[in-house]
Amino acid sequence: VVCQNVGTAVAVHEAVALGRPLVSRVTTVTGEAVAHPGNYEVLLGTPMGWLLERAGVDSERARRLVMGGPMMGFSIPEPACPVVKTTNCLLVPTEAELPTPPPAQACIRCGLCAEACPATLLPQQLYWFAQGKEYDKLEGHNLFDCIECGACSYVCPSHIPLVQYYRASKADILARRRESEKADHARERFEARQARMERLAAEREAKRAERKRAAEAKAKAKAEAAASEGAGGTDDAQAAATADPIQAAIERAKARKAALAAGTAGEPADRLATLSANVDTIAKRLAAAREKLDAYDGGEASVAEALKRGVEKTEEKLARAEAELREAREGASEEA
Ligand code: SF4
Ligand code: SF4
Repeated sequence: VVCQNVGTAVAVHEAVALGRPLVSRVTTVTGEAVAHPGNYEVLLGTPMGWLLERAGVDSERARRLVMGGPMMGFSIPEPACPVVKTTNCLLVPTEAELPTPPPAQACIRCGLCAEACPATLLPQQLYWFAQGKEYDKLEGHNLFDCIECGACSYVCPSHIPLVQYYRASKADILARRRESEKADHARERFEARQARMERLAAEREAKRAERKRAAEAKAKAKAEAAASEGAGGTDDAQAAATADPIQAAIERAKARKAALAAGTAGEPADRLATLSANVDTIAKRLAAAREKLDAYDGGEASVAEALKRGVEKTEEKLARAEAELREAREGASEEA
């Protein structure tokens, strides 16, 4: 069983049966300061002042503007406020009709509020906890069971606006709940992100380790294959050199140089041919370096200097190669 007021029942009927959204509502305008009290269908968002004007409110006699009934209503500070879906009644009483409540006095713990409460709550206790902002105790004393009927405030001999305290406390508690939910949500997102980052890092590390293992195994297999294919007596250095093409080239150059130095590069005729070819190669390089130096326009001194050094070094190399060739030729003629 759902118990609803007439306005809500009409709104539900219009929405469900007629497909019409809630764009207006029936608002009761009443009070001794109203010339034409009655029920007005008003579009939501209409300024209350405009509606009061149509109802013929006497602003001289109007003491205050209350939204809701005399028990559960609350004062509206500004008539420019809009009509909303909860604006069921606008009460414009005179001073005689609804006198301004006297200042609140201290609670005398008379218990009248508890006797009047239809929800069998302890309004005076709720009042104490609301004043001290003890929200846990308020919830423990079932603050949210309060229907805000206003009976406790009405009977209170100390004129304490009890309902206002309950409303403010409810709003604070709801705001705190929302904040807490937001913080929990943010924490969950942060933890999920951390877990994701850790998982990705672990995956990356595993892939890297796998690649490293594969590369090591490949290098080892190559070295073993080279060792087994090499000529008899191939040592570790040669195997490593075979595994690495750059190292192999270096090893070959070293062997050639050693052979030349030892005069074991083959027959004298071969050696002469090799040295002669070496001289030709260096001479060509020298010619190219000179050409470059001549062609350079001298834009940067450091570049010109580098080219010049290159030419000088190549000249030195050529002189050494020519001397070596000369010596080899002399040696060959002596042997002959
Ligand atoms: S009716 Fe007012 S004075 Fe009496 S116990 Fe309740 S809050 Fe206190
Ligand atoms: S306003 Fe709340 S606490 Fe006061 S009488 Fe009504 S239900 Fe009880």
